[in-house]
Formats: sequence, structure tokens, C-alpha cells
Amino acid sequence: MLHNKWLRFGFTLLLLSVVIGMGYFNFFQDKQPNPIIPISKLGQDVQSGVVKSLAVNGTTVNIVYQDGTTATSVQSAADSGIEKTLANLNVSPNQVAAVDITYGHATEWSDVLSILLAFLPLVFIGGMIFFFMRRAQNGNNPARSFSKSKARQASNVKPQITFADVAGVDEAKQELQEVVEFLKEPGKFTALGARIPRGVLLVGPPGTGKTLMARAVAGEANVPFFSISGSEFVEMFVGVGASRVRDLFTTAKKNSPCIVFVDEIDAVGRNRGSGVGGSNDEREQTLNQILVEMDGFDTDTNVIIVAATNRPDILDPALLRPGRFDRRVIIDRPDMLGRKQILEVHFKGKPISDEVDLGAVAKLTPGFSGADIENLVNEAAILAARREKKATGMIELQESVEKVMAGPERKSRRVIEEEKRIIAYHEAGHALVMQMLPNSDPVYKVSITSRGTALSYTMHLPADERYLQRRSKFMDDLAGVLGGRVAEELVFGDITTNAANDLESTTQLVRAMVTRYGMSDVLGQRTFGAREEMIFLGREISERRNYGEAVARQIDEEIKKIILTAYAQAREILQAYRDVLDAIANRLLLAESIDGVELARLVADQGLYQCR
Ligand code: ADP
Ligand code: MG
Ligand code: ZN
Repeated sequence: MLHNKWLRFGFTLLLLSVVIGMGYFNFFQDKQPNPIIPISKLGQDVQSGVVKSLAVNGTTVNIVYQDGTTATSVQSAADSGIEKTLANLNVSPNQVAAVDITYGHATEWSDVLSILLAFLPLVFIGGMIFFFMRRAQNGNNPARSFSKSKARQASNVKPQITFADVAGVDEAKQELQEVVEFLKEPGKFTALGARIPRGVLLVGPPGTGKTLMARAVAGEANVPFFSISGSEFVEMFVGVGASRVRDLFTTAKKNSPCIVFVDEIDAVGRNRGSGVGGSNDEREQTLNQILVEMDGFDTDTNVIIVAATNRPDILDPALLRPGRFDRRVIIDRPDMLGRKQILEVHFKGKPISDEVDLGAVAKLTPGFSGADIENLVNEAAILAARREKKATGMIELQESVEKVMAGPERKSRRVIEEEKRIIAYHEAGHALVMQMLPNSDPVYKVSITSRGTALSYTMHLPADERYLQRRSKFMDDLAGVLGGRVAEELVFGDITTNAANDLESTTQLVRAMVTRYGMSDVLGQRTFGAREEMIFLGREISERRNYGEAVARQIDEEIKKIILTAYAQAREILQAYRDVLDAIANRLLLAESIDGVELARLVADQGLYQCR
């Protein structure tokens, strides 16, 4: 911003000076078309008495004749004086005395001005070049500007974020408490000869609160917080990354004790030399500079470097060795209790109606990260506000969960009646199979309202959180996912593209069962294919085959067999309970959506009890 302003200012001045300069020269050249006459001619003119006055300025002699015309002449030596020059030209002293002679200042100032004006554009061009150079060097330098401003901010204003703002990650908090204590009382540790932790690596999926946590540590310890993102290092000009690191660390050392936070360090800290195509020099230099700076800290420098990444597996081993980022703090997706606590944090100070059960909301949101929950709370509040409510209610929360999970509702999408029937039966098929199989998750909601890119959806939620998945659950899940396609086939005798996503997730799951989880009886207890990271334009995971053609065929056959088994099971259920399927589909066509309770009742009404 500032530079832009200066640049514009500079450009304006440059233009102005060029215009003025040209105008000036034109003006004087037009008004003074002074003929230059030889000095001998001047001598003759003085002798003949037609000269009125002479203005001498150095070697230049400006002549004004009696008739008002002017001319210029040049004498050979400036210091000899025009009288002497004229005397040398045989002009008598009397004749000289008749002429009005002035020395010096008559034209001097305009000469200086013209020289200045002549040089002004050059000065400005020089200035511009200087500006550009500066811009190139550190114009976009967040390390410099950001860190400096933050340092000031942090010492004047109390950091607002503390551990109380980070919920559901108690283990991580405990580990970082140590860092806080060190920043507060380094003496306590150094007295015992303990080596101070230098680097802490926060590892966890996106949105789980890594950045938040780093800020909270600075807030708890009440120290300045310098932050830069890994991707900012690798910006425009080669060689800038390393100098930014240097800048950042210099500022940090001046402000110690403090925290330097390198967000998304995987952008620079990838395993060196593993790039495919293109040059990674810039990144390597930046990384090397980080390592050099970390090693260069004296043991009494109270600067702790906190870095965050969601890809610890691809970091350069040099970053992870003792004395560098030797502490790893895992920040994982919150569990049900954690989600409840995060909900509480984000609802703090916001009106919320009494019927809201945050525990129930936590149950609805498996797999949500802290950022998702923040988003959810915000969506619910917006919804409540638009409904002119005084407080956020449970309904708004439930609707927002669906919105965050499946995308915004698309009421405007018109679906013709025939397609609507197909969609209703498709979802009813999912729901009924899921409801009837003992190992699949209970259905939470079935809807034929479009959301995001989906035409309809069946949401099912685990009764409780599990970290291990059983094969029997996978098989029941597969039948449930295939239930949509089976219903279409049974009812309409034809199939549609509606099952595309279902088939994709089916294939993916079954392939993993066979090649990664060793769940195939035929292929046995081994994995197939080695997963490799190819670093090329960001992230790309390729699978390398480590098995032969025969095995590849066997894998394909196993995948097919498992899918067929699940398919047969779904078909069996839907054929046997066709009337229940009709009931669910009709209800969907009428009401657009059915929740889990109603679904269970529909099933029970038809004289069926789920096997659970
Ligand atoms: P990350 O850096 O891990 O990608 P952030 O720290 O940027 O995630 O989190 C984004 C937002 O999500 C935070 O500003 C905060 O509002 C919310 N959030 C994430 N995790 C938590 C948590 N554990 N407790 C409270 N809020 C959280
Ligand atoms: Mg972050
Ligand atoms: Zn489906």
C-alpha cells in the first residue's frame, strides 16, 4: 500500500518535471532566439556605439543593443573581465564606459534552475529504480513487517488467546504447559542443566487448532508471538526465503523470550532432494537457513520455535533430530467429549436456548474438526438470527450440521416427478438395508432434498465412537451403500446414474479391505502395493505395484466377490420387505425427509423389528 502510494507519487513527479522541464526550455528558447556573434563583432559594435548594455556571466556575454535586439557572445577567459577583452579588441576605454556593464547574477539563477530541471528526471528515474529495488528486496516481506508489528502489539496488548480457548486437546495442553513454564521461568530449568526444548512440532489434520494452540502458548506465557507461514517463504524472488528466515530470527532474538511460529512447515521442510521435476533450490535454501538459525541459538536464548504441519511423514529428517523439532505434540480430531467442550467454548457469551443439548450435538458430528464446529456454531447463529430468534436453538444446530456435512440446501432445483420417485426409492433402499443390518450405523436422517451436489442423502451416525472397524461392519455398510442401486433395479427394472458415488465409495472400501487390511480369505494376511509420495506440484500419492499379474487378477476377483456378496444381501432384504420399502419411499415423497425415529417406526409398523 505504502509503496504503491510512493510509486504513484514518484511517477507523478517524474511526469511533472519532464513537462515543466520541456516547457522551460521551449519557453526560453522561443523567447530568446539569441544569435551568437563572435567576440570580435562585439568589439566592433561597441566601437560603433550601438551596444546599450552587456551582462557578463562567466564566459557568456549577453548583449542588448540600443535598438532593443539582443545577442550572445562568448569570451575566451572568464576571469579576465569584459573590459580587458574589449581593450584587447582595440575598443577605447571611453567607448567601453558608454556601455552599461553588469557582472554575474543576471542569468545565473535561471542557469542553475535549468541545470536542475535538466537533471530532475534523472533524479526521479534513479529514485524509481531505488524504490523498485527495495520493493523487490523486501516489499512483500511479511517476516519483516508482520513480525515487527506483532512484536509491538504483543507487548502492549495482552494476548487474548489462552489455553481456555482451546478445547478437547488436553494431552497436547499438558505437553505444552512445559513449554509455557520454560518461557516463564527459564532459570528453573537451566539451573539443573536441562536443555531447553527448542522446537515443538504440532502435528494434526487441518482445522484441529494447531495455529490456535501456538497462539495460546504465547498467550499463556505472555510473550511475543512471531508467525510466518511456510508457503510465504516460497514466494516470488529467489533467495528471499532464506533472508526472511534470517530476518525473522533476528527480530525474535531481540524480543526473547518469545515464540516463533512457522505454520505449515511442510511447504519448506519437505525431504530434501525428493522433488520430481523443477528446481527446489529455493526451498532447500530456506530449510537450510532454518536449520542454521536453530543451531545458532545460544543455550540461553529463550526463543522457542513452534511449527505446525499436517504431513509429518514428509518432513526432512534433519528437522526432526534432537535439538531441533524434537518434540512432537499430536493434535487430533476431537472425540465426542472434546467436541462438546469445543461447542461450549464457541457458544461462550452467545445466547443459546435452554433445550439445546450440546452433548447431543457432539454426537451428531463425528469426524468434525474444531474449525468445522466453529463453522457449525456460526451457521446455527446466522440461521437463528434470520428466523428472528433471541437464541440459537436445537433445530438450527441440527440443520447446520446437515449443511456443514452435505452442503447447502438447494430448494430451487426442480426434479421432475418420475425422477423424484426414483430418488425416493434409491434413498429408501439405503435406509431400509442400513436399518435391517445389525452392524451398520443407525440411520439419522433420510432426505430427498438436494444439498450441495447431491440430489438426496441418507445420513447415518455411529452410536458410539470407534477406532477399530470390524469386517462384519464393513460388509453391512457395503450392503447399505449398494441398497440404493438395488432398490432402483427391483422397483423400476432399470438402473440410473444416481449410484455413481455409491459405487465409487464401495470400490474404494473393498479395495482397501483386500489390499490394506488383509480381510480377504483368498489373498490372506498381507498388503499389496506400496504407497509412495510423489512430490510434484503439491501432493500426489501414487501406488507402486509390488505384486505380479496373477496376483493383480486375484485382487480384482476378490474385490468383485466381496461386492457381489454385499449386493446379494441388500437384494435379499429389499425383496423380502418390499412393502416396507414402498412405505418409506411414499413417506419420503410426501414429507421429503424422514428422521431416524420415524424410520424405525415405519419399519415397526410393518411388523418388522430391526435386528439390532
Ligand atoms: P489448524 O491450524 O490446525 O489448521 P486452526 O488453529 O487455524 O487450525 O483452527 C481454526 C479455527 O477452528 C480456530 O480459529 C478455532 O476457532 C477453531 N478451533 C479449532 N480447533 C479448536 C479447538 N480445539 N478448540 C476450540 N476451537 C478450535
Ligand atoms: Mg493453521
Ligand atoms: Zn445412493
